[in-house]
Amino acid sequence: MHAHISDRLRQHGAKPTAQRLALARVIFERPQHLSADDLFRAALAAGIRVSKATVYNTLNLFAECGLVREVNVDGSRLYYDSTTRPHHHFFNVDTGELIDIPEHAVRLAEMPELPPGTESAGVEMVVKVRKRRS
Ligand SMILES: [Zn+2]
Repeated sequence: MHAHISDRLRQHGAKPTAQRLALARVIFERPQHLSADDLFRAALAAGIRVSKATVYNTLNLFAECGLVREVNVDGSRLYYDSTTRPHHHFFNVDTGELIDIPEHAVRLAEMPELPPGTESAGVEMVVKVRKRRS
């Protein structure tokens, strides 16, 4: 597992320092969506001594390298997704929870014409949900 994660970092061009490896083990423990604060708390709980700045820098680097995917929910809340293949999300506005929607579960009937000189870099849908009000 340890070797696997350091290989993965190297393959994506991220030098596997001890702190990056420790954080990567938390992130890739299971499929999950983490804010920087979530990861900081999880790291402390796992006994990893790391600063908040290192958590932010590491997440930024991992996102740049394609190791995690940034999910920007409403412009103020940024989550990091350990699942990098294309998929969509439910976002619970009451709880802040993100839930995966498989890519094939969403079918777009029609796409608008792309602006001239551009190509699609992917379509990501966030379906906002809240507790039903009766
Ligand atoms: Zn996801």
